[in-house]
Amino acid sequence: MARIFIIGNGISGVTAARHIRKLSNHDITIISSESSHFFARTALMYVYMGHMRFKDIKPYEDGFWKKNRIELLHDSVIGIEFISKSLTLESGLKLHYDQLILATGSIPNKMGWPGQDLQGVSGLYHLQDLEMMEQYSKNCSRAVIVGGGLIGIEMAEMFHSRHIPVTLVVREKEYWYNILPPEEAAMISRHIHEHNIDLKLNCELTEILDNGQGEAAGVVLSNGEQIECNYVGLTVGVKPNIEFLKNTALETDRGILVNEQLETNIADVYAIGDCAQLRHALSGRKPIEAIWYTGRMMGETVAYNICKEPVSYNPGIWFNSAKFLDIEYQVYGFVPSKIQSPFNSFYWEHTDGKKSIRLVFNIETSEILGFNLMGIRFRHEVCETWISKKTGLNDVVQNIRLAFFDPEFYKNYEVSFVESFNQQFNQQIILNKNKTLNHVFKFLTQK
Ligand SMILES: Cc1cc2nc3c(=O)[nH]c(=O)nc-3n(C[C@H](O)[C@H](O)[C@H](O)COP(=O)(O)OP(=O)(O)OC[C@H]3O[C@@H](n4cnc5c(N)ncnc54)[C@H](O)[C@@H]3O)c2cc1C
Repeated sequence: MARIFIIGNGISGVTAARHIRKLSNHDITIISSESSHFFARTALMYVYMGHMRFKDIKPYEDGFWKKNRIELLHDSVIGIEFISKSLTLESGLKLHYDQLILATGSIPNKMGWPGQDLQGVSGLYHLQDLEMMEQYSKNCSRAVIVGGGLIGIEMAEMFHSRHIPVTLVVREKEYWYNILPPEEAAMISRHIHEHNIDLKLNCELTEILDNGQGEAAGVVLSNGEQIECNYVGLTVGVKPNIEFLKNTALETDRGILVNEQLETNIADVYAIGDCAQLRHALSGRKPIEAIWYTGRMMGETVAYNICKEPVSYNPGIWFNSAKFLDIEYQVYGFVPSKIQSPFNSFYWEHTDGKKSIRLVFNIETSEILGFNLMGIRFRHEVCETWISKKTGLNDVVQNIRLAFFDPEFYKNYEVSFVESFNQQFNQQIILNKNKTLNHVFKFLTQK
């Protein structure tokens, strides 16, 4: 029986622990400095907005861990001695491990702005950030959020939900312009404006002003504008949380370098989740993917590697989903922000300007490569099957009804979608009527 330590109780660390327990009788301890128990980081915004209580975002009852013989330590690891296999904790404890899993997550980026460490300035990542937001929301005249990505818009929505005026500062010409194709980026920019959020495009933060008591009082922007505020949210991306591992024998780059079995360069030491960087990125994927489901898959993979036969981490076809205020977003497969030859796309947008479907395909082979959806949900498995089977574009368009996931009382958009496709691509595709769950099931199970 081995003594396994996991540093980090996020989705990757707890998934590893749960699967190691399923597969073995090893001693398991999870150490985390942030919270005693695992919670869903992705739902933090709903606690602030009053939709959920903190206890609602803890997926497991507190008794679950004891019942499953997973020990929890609320402490911080401040040093690792890889030769003697020992951990030093902030509390002074020294612990010996047989196998170690590093699942230390990310931290928000700070770009060295003057004033970035003032009170009333934070990212949105840890529970402590939420506490700071809560504290400064009481008499907040305005919040300024810097960074036009997924977390920035969440933070803007949070303040907005409490009727606190919000300015969102974005460096690019549209919201999330480096990830979304131009039409979708413009749609979300419009949507932000419609919510009376003061969106400042083509603009950067230069300085955060001090109120003389170590708290944020305002910001200065690259266009010379000065805005008074009581809170500054810094949401310009995250980076792997590995500072305490630098200058050790562990090989790191931006993250902790791992092979496909998630092993580091040191025997019996693994890294998973946001802090891990694959030495060789998998085809169509990035070496670091700071998202929820990849952390979960890595946790499961590492458990098998420790307890059973070695298996390679294989996250399959890329997907992601989010919500931009009221507009849901899904992406499957390859959807670059700039679509150039040999790729092209068909883009359909509803007349209300809040729903769209984009199909990305290879011009030479016609095969479908990716789907981008705004305000409309597609079935994950159907999109994945089309992409993995390299299905032709016309075939996908003809059978698009199989993908629509929207509940039965929602309006259907397939007819307008196909008409628009036929017009743009000079085709005469007739929409296949198959759309019941039986048809979907038959499609997914056919060889
Ligand atoms: C606000 C927000 C919304 C998000 N929304 C989405 C979404 O909609 N979809 C999606 O796919 N992803 C989303 N993400 C990203 C996703 O939450 C992360 O990719 C995921 O939580 C990372 O999990 P992890 O287990 O790798 O690390 P983490 O959840 O960061 O857990 C690591 C833990 O390790 C602890 N730790 C670090 N170092 C030490 C140490 N030395 N000693 C002790 N403890 C330590 C940290 O304090 C932390 O608690 C969101 C992230 C945020 C912040």
